[in-house]
Amino acid sequence: MTVEAHKETLGFQAEVKQMLHLMIHSLYSNKEIFLRELISNASDAADKLRFEALSDDALVEGDSEFSIRVEFDKKARTVSIIDNGIGMSRQEVIEHVGTIAKSGTAQFLSSLSGDQAKDAHLIGQFGVGFYSAFIVADNVTLTTRRAGLGAEHGVRWVSSGDGEYTLETVEKSARGTEVVLHLREDEDEFLEGYRLRNIISKYSDHITIPIQMFTEPLPAEGDDELEAEPELEAVNRASALWVRSKKDISDEEYNEFYKHVAHDFEDPMLHTHNRVEGNYEYTSLLYIPARAPFDLWDRERRHGIKLYVRRVFIMDDAEQLMPNYLRFVRGVIDSSDLPLNVSREILQRNKAIDSIRAGSVKKVLSMLEGMAKNDPEKYATFWKEFGRVMKEGLGEDFGNKEKLAKLLRFSSTHTDSEEQAASLADYADRMQQGQANIYYVTADSFAAAKNSPHLEIFRKKGIEVLLLSDRVDEWLLSALTEFDGTPLKSVTQGELDLGELEDKDEKEKQEQAGKAFDDVVEKVKTSLGEAVSEVRVTHRLTSSPACLVMEEGDMSANLERILKSAGQDIASKKPVFEINSEHPLVIKLKDESDTARFDDLTQVLFDQALLAEGGQLEDPASFVKRLNELLLSMSS
Ligand code: ADP
Ligand code: MG
Repeated sequence: MTVEAHKETLGFQAEVKQMLHLMIHSLYSNKEIFLRELISNASDAADKLRFEALSDDALVEGDSEFSIRVEFDKKARTVSIIDNGIGMSRQEVIEHVGTIAKSGTAQFLSSLSGDQAKDAHLIGQFGVGFYSAFIVADNVTLTTRRAGLGAEHGVRWVSSGDGEYTLETVEKSARGTEVVLHLREDEDEFLEGYRLRNIISKYSDHITIPIQMFTEPLPAEGDDELEAEPELEAVNRASALWVRSKKDISDEEYNEFYKHVAHDFEDPMLHTHNRVEGNYEYTSLLYIPARAPFDLWDRERRHGIKLYVRRVFIMDDAEQLMPNYLRFVRGVIDSSDLPLNVSREILQRNKAIDSIRAGSVKKVLSMLEGMAKNDPEKYATFWKEFGRVMKEGLGEDFGNKEKLAKLLRFSSTHTDSEEQAASLADYADRMQQGQANIYYVTADSFAAAKNSPHLEIFRKKGIEVLLLSDRVDEWLLSALTEFDGTPLKSVTQGELDLGELEDKDEKEKQEQAGKAFDDVVEKVKTSLGEAVSEVRVTHRLTSSPACLVMEEGDMSANLERILKSAGQDIASKKPVFEINSEHPLVIKLKDESDTARFDDLTQVLFDQALLAEGGQLEDPASFVKRLNELLLSMSS
């Protein structure tokens, strides 16, 4: 391999520029975290090398003592972070510190508000830790060499964070990375040893390899000579946090460790820390982030669970360790039963992994159960961030279906608020005497669900209905058909039978009224022809003239629309058209003798019913024309 000894100047990817700007401004009040971020990267680099060296021990070049060194130079006004981790090749430098390798970043950045306080929370979601150096530095030099490459393959990256960086090939005998920050004018506080030590203890104590600094011996009295030579000493505790006993770990320590493993800038919402002994031995430390990452719906997203085997880092984002619906969980799992050379392929069919995964899912679910019970407000925040993902679990994780059903929260007519706050157990408690079903309506927006004409009779009788408008709800309902023995039932499907909730007199009256409309029903049917499967007098409506109903067991109209918009070719089922015999427009229909006007009014009622439930008209122009003609004929 020939060495390209050239020096070149490259531009940052546009997103990086935007990000740098945002970062410097939003993190200004908490500058010291730059050190945490650079140490976090140095530690990751050591982990990666330690793992690669398992299959190729030449990579450690005879030095398997990993460490991170922090130095400062008052005269030169620099702080340096030096590691002997994996290092980077020239190409890797370009990829990792010249771009943000996450799809959707540009789009997300442009959607950010100018509200910087809010943006500060978002900034951590990008894995942009390295750039935090520019909060305190006006110039950053990163010199690195990939472990295993010759000394002549060193690379030097220099930037003042203003849109460009230079790359140069240099000699570097020691493997790993050295980052030198030239501090901005007012940042002298970081040129003090005690300040740096403090920051390291505060944020980086959990780092598993030693973070070293030189001692600062005082000159002996009346003498220019130093009392002793400066020596390297470790500033951190340098032991794996998850191995320690729970009672010895403070919340701050748990939080800082989270920021390191999750690459997040914010404290987590909750954690669960467990040592499991039995058939398989492992320790898990799992966290729920405070906020859903912007790429929660992106299949390429990274940073999930880190897998360790007997404290040796094996891999990031071990997707086998958490089901998809818990993809927001972060943390580490350290197993004693896996071989050190475990690969992603092996993980896919490994008994220990299956058992660890099942155990970890249980821990997460019981942590959530506990939060729902003990801190409903916090649980509400959790649900707001992650509820839509949790709903996927019903279809995905059959074994935990009952647990998951208890964790669900929905909007409902109980409050008519968009916040999803009602659990199925709450609903069950509020059910009326004689109520046999849990009722729900699905629609493609909350407003459409809340205002659905199908709810009229339920509102009149004070029967609660769940208002479902997340896309995932349709899938959820195909997996969840009952709760604690009570069936879930759509209010838009099948003939409405409120059973014991209906009183006899009422029923008789309705039947009588129905008979009086037999003729109208027949005529409407003829008029609408192929568009409907049946026409009948409704029991659901109190104020709307008509509505559409799907037959029991047919796909809901909402699901049909979702599938069609996803490009699926599905045959439409014809709906049942129900008319309200007490509505003036329907009574008008009964008295209408002119066939053309009868047909127009019928068609308008049908189209309205379709619109009211969020459907689209096949011929909107004709609808408008008909409606206008009717309006005119009314006023005349
Ligand atoms: P993150 O740590 O979340 O990936 P950063 O911005 O902190 O994001 O770092 C970007 C990438 O740059 C890292 O993922 C890593 O590939 C590379 N990198 C940064 N610092 C080092 C280092 N000291 N040694 C090796 N690689 C590094
Ligand atoms: Mg980082």
